[in-house]
Amino acid sequence: MPTRKAIFIHSRELEKYPYPPDHPFNTARAAKVRKILNSMGLLSGNGSPPKAGLIKPAFGREVAPVPAERVTLKKFHTARYLHALKTASAGRWDSEALNMGIGTSDCPVFEGLYEYAVLVTGGTLTAAKLILSGSADVAFNPSGGFHHAHPERASGFCYINDVALACMVLAEQNKRVLYVDVDVHHGDGVAYAFYERCDVMTISFHEDPRILFPGTGFQDEIGTGKGKGYCINVPLPVGTYDQAYMKAFEEVAIPLMTAFHPDVIVFELGADALAGDPLAHLYLTNNVYADIINYLLALNKPILMTGGGGYNIDNTVRAWALAWTVLCGADSDTNPVVGGVMLESTDWQGGLRDRALAVSNQQRDVVMPAVEATIEAIKASVFPLHGL
Ligand SMILES: [Zn+2]
Repeated sequence: MPTRKAIFIHSRELEKYPYPPDHPFNTARAAKVRKILNSMGLLSGNGSPPKAGLIKPAFGREVAPVPAERVTLKKFHTARYLHALKTASAGRWDSEALNMGIGTSDCPVFEGLYEYAVLVTGGTLTAAKLILSGSADVAFNPSGGFHHAHPERASGFCYINDVALACMVLAEQNKRVLYVDVDVHHGDGVAYAFYERCDVMTISFHEDPRILFPGTGFQDEIGTGKGKGYCINVPLPVGTYDQAYMKAFEEVAIPLMTAFHPDVIVFELGADALAGDPLAHLYLTNNVYADIINYLLALNKPILMTGGGGYNIDNTVRAWALAWTVLCGADSDTNPVVGGVMLESTDWQGGLRDRALAVSNQQRDVVMPAVEATIEAIKASVFPLHGL
């Protein structure tokens, strides 16, 4: 698969802006992914040539993000909000900013937050641009995926919605955009940005909103007006395991995304649905992400992949590294080079893929019927709108 043009978005600049130390969001994950991929010889560019002697069926070119322009940010965010964000980042913030979610425990004020958010967004937009120009078939910005940011409200660790902006920029070029979000939290900022539009289909898989932030993303939220049937929400019960998750993906997402005929795919790969994530309660292994990426690749359209949540750092980093190998065609299943990975706290001898997890009968009895009911409900409400 050496012909797939793959771009990895990163620069040292992104490593300069950590969230406060007690905050769960870890901006160092992207650099850790880069380090692993680089050690495997799966990246080149920016002064990091692949290691000599490794067999490379494919590897990506590393591209530094360019900060997003304010005029672009204003396609989604209000001027008032952007001003408050910038001012807060410089150390001045007031009750008006707080009313827009800036300075809460979820979205704290820290030095450089505006610069960081603008640079990350620029990274996702750089990826979109490279896809539009034909310079990239697949692109990955592991620092991106801030799907909870609203036009005038910071929310859920997110300040600027890079993924919504990327979808907008792509749609402006008359592309039919498929947005797939597998972060364990509902991709609310993106779903509601396109709730009345039929040129951007959003599909979000997430934990039951009655249990988990942001409390939206029920299966009956399907879009409105021209957008009716173009917003798909798949809420999943606590303990959802690989087989149940993939059943939902195969029976709901695949027919809909195939019927939609997208020109380009934006894929938000928050890794907080993995078993053991400290902020959520699903029970997935990273093999699910590999399978999903293979399904997306089968559509044979450009893919812009971003990071997102993921609060077990080692698991998240390994999942994203695996995702990149699948995306650029160097998956460990077919490539013996990608085996045995040294993470900061784990020497992962098995390669990038998780081992299968045991699922109890009791768990199956609870999870599978709930997932099947959700699948049937979506089939009944959304499928007919697409002639399915
Ligand atoms: Zn999340």
